[in-house]
Amino acid sequence: APEVVTFGETMAALRAQGALRLGGGLGLSVAGAESNVAIGLARLGHRVRWAGRVGADELGALVLRTLRAEGVDIDHAATDDTDRPTGLLLTEPRLGTLTRVSYYRAGSAGSAVSPADVLPALTSGARILHLTGITPALSPSAAEAVLAAATTAREAGITVCLDVNYRSRLWSTDRARTALRPLLDHTDLLIASEDELPLVLEQPGADESEAVKGILAAGVTEVVVKRGARGATSVTADGATDRAARQVDAVDLVGAGDAFVAGYLSGLLDGADIPARLHRAVTTAAFAVATRGDWEGLPTRDELGLFDQPDGTTIR
Ligand code: ATP
Repeated sequence: APEVVTFGETMAALRAQGALRLGGGLGLSVAGAESNVAIGLARLGHRVRWAGRVGADELGALVLRTLRAEGVDIDHAATDDTDRPTGLLLTEPRLGTLTRVSYYRAGSAGSAVSPADVLPALTSGARILHLTGITPALSPSAAEAVLAAATTAREAGITVCLDVNYRSRLWSTDRARTALRPLLDHTDLLIASEDELPLVLEQPGADESEAVKGILAAGVTEVVVKRGARGATSVTADGATDRAARQVDAVDLVGAGDAFVAGYLSGLLDGADIPARLHRAVTTAAFAVATRGDWEGLPTRDELGLFDQPDGTTIR
């Protein structure tokens, strides 16, 4: 049985080598915030399940094959039996590590995920349910699935983790706030970027410490704030713990946040204290930042120590 259950939309990802409008070569992979986290956890040796919906098409087969190959449990992944396709995204490197992403996901199979798809995936033995704020933006049924899963998990004593992951392409800040606020009542661990904190509270003008205080007062046990190259902070009722990022040459920032979450949850599953969880999170995030692709460069457990090797080391 899985220790971690997650669900959301995973799309086919086409990566251009240069500007999309110039044409040229594309590499095909898969991408989705929750499946990135699932792959990160599986690489670290945890039992993790991804639930969700893919189209009855070749790209859907690619998504499922990739997750299966990475050791992610897809027993509760559904294949859509209507003509809804698997969603698609295209990425183009534009300026250094600045990447532009274009989405083709409206009306996708993934956006049709529903409570009936995900509730059966929350089997006994699960310790963590991981959700993102992307899923409730996809459709009314996807929003219901997130709220139903959070409510059910919380009642069952499963730790509910929510990564805010605000996507301005999918909805306005007002709509996001309306949907995310009720989720806080069922969230144990909230993870957000600095700029996303005000989104989960009623008063949009709140500064960071006010926002964190409000989130803890809403019943969340721990708030983890991601600060990009400046690292991250965990705040609980006992106080705040800061952690610097690992120094790496950034190659591709996409997926850093998901890699961070995978490392953090891995530490939590191992029973690590907050400093050790943050240490693992900034380490897995650094792997994502220093390699191409959203998840391809994520470390296995044996590879976690590579960052402590001197630069230029050859592993024989
Ligand atoms: P995403 O683009 O994946 O949504 P995010 O906004 O959720 O990212 P960030 O705060 O940008 O998350 O990054 C998450 C973590 O990744 C940071 O806490 C840090 O540990 C690591 N990280 C990000 N950028 C860098 C960098 N330039 N160098 C080293 N580590 C980094």
